[in-house]
Amino acid sequence: FCTLLGGIAGCFVGLFCLLLYRRNRSMVHQLRRAIRDEKLHMVYQPIVQLRDRRIVEAEALVRWTDDDGFAVSPEIFVHVAEENGFVGELTELVVRLALNELGDLLREHLDLSLNINVTGMDLADPAFLPMLERSLAAFRVEAPSVTIEVTESSTARKATAVETIHILRARGHNVYIDDFGTGYSSLSYLHSLAVDAVKIDKSFTHSIGTMAVTSSILPQILAMAETLSLAVVAEGIETEEQADYFASYEQPILGQGWLFGRPAMAEDFCSLLEEHEVESSLLTPPGHGA
Ligand code: C2E
Ligand code: MG
Ligand code: MG
Ligand code: MG
Repeated sequence: FCTLLGGIAGCFVGLFCLLLYRRNRSMVHQLRRAIRDEKLHMVYQPIVQLRDRRIVEAEALVRWTDDDGFAVSPEIFVHVAEENGFVGELTELVVRLALNELGDLLREHLDLSLNINVTGMDLADPAFLPMLERSLAAFRVEAPSVTIEVTESSTARKATAVETIHILRARGHNVYIDDFGTGYSSLSYLHSLAVDAVKIDKSFTHSIGTMAVTSSILPQILAMAETLSLAVVAEGIETEEQADYFASYEQPILGQGWLFGRPAMAEDFCSLLEEHEVESSLLTPPGHGA
C-alpha cells in the first residue's frame, strides 16, 4: 500500500515539475518575443524632496503582461531574462523606451533626473556602457539627467561591476544602491563602491511605528549612510507618519512611495509634474523656487 501511495505521490510531483517547467519555458519564449516586439511598457514614479515635496526624480519601472493577460512582476521576469541570457536586450529596451518618453521633459527640466534600474549582469556586460552612451546620444539626453540604480547584491564583490560604476560616475551619471540594508555588505565594501546615494528598502520604511526588529535597524542604516556621506532616498512611503520620520532626520532625505504618487504612464507622470510645479510656485515667492 505504501509503495502505491509513494508511486502516486511521485507521479504528482513529476506532473507538477513538468507543468512548472512548461510554464517557465513558455514564459521565456513569450518574454523574448515581447522584448523583440517592444510589447513591454514603462511607468514612472515620482521621488520628492521631503521638506517641500518637490518632485526631483522619476524612477522608471518596467511592466509586462503575458499572453494570458497576466501582469507578471518585474522581479520575476527580470530574473528570467537574466537566467536565460537576454537581460541586455531587456535593459536596452527599457533605456530606449524611457528616454523616448521622458526625453523632452528631461531637456526642459535640467534639475529632474530619470532613474533607471539595471542588473549586476548589465554592469558586467561590456556592451552595456556603449549601449547607454548610444541611446543618450540618440535621444539627446545628457548623462547627468540619468541616474543608474543597482542593488547591493548585484555588485557583490564583482570587479567589473565596480569598474562600470566608476565609469558611469566619471561620465556624469549618479549611481544609487537600491534595496539598501537587505544585502550583507560591510561598511568598508560600500565605501569602496563609491556611489552617490542609497535607497532604503521599503521593508524598513514599513517597520516605522511598529515593534518589528527592522524598526530598530533603521537608525543604524541611516547612520551608516551618513558615515559614508551618501544621500538617502526612502522607498515605500505610504503614510504621513513614515514621511515625518524621514523628514525629521537632520540630513535632507528624498522620499518615494504611494503617498506622493503611484507609478504612472508617462503622460500622467508629466501632468503630475506640471500640477506640482504650479502648486509649489504658488507657495514659494518668486526667485526662491527652482
Ligand atoms: P525597486 O527598484 O526597489 O522598485 C521599487 C518597487 O516598490 C516598485 O515595484 C514600486 O512599484 C514599489 N513601490 C513604490 N512605492 C511603493 C509603496 O509606497 N508601497 C509599496 N508597497 N510598494 C511601493 P515594482 O515596479 O513591482 O518593481 C519591483 C522591482 O523590480 C524593482 O524594485 C526593481 O528591482 C525591478 N525592476 C522594475 N523595473 C525594472 C527595470 O526596468 N529594469 C530592471 N533591471 N529591474 C526593474
Ligand atoms: Mg529601483
Ligand atoms: Mg544629478
Ligand atoms: Mg528598492
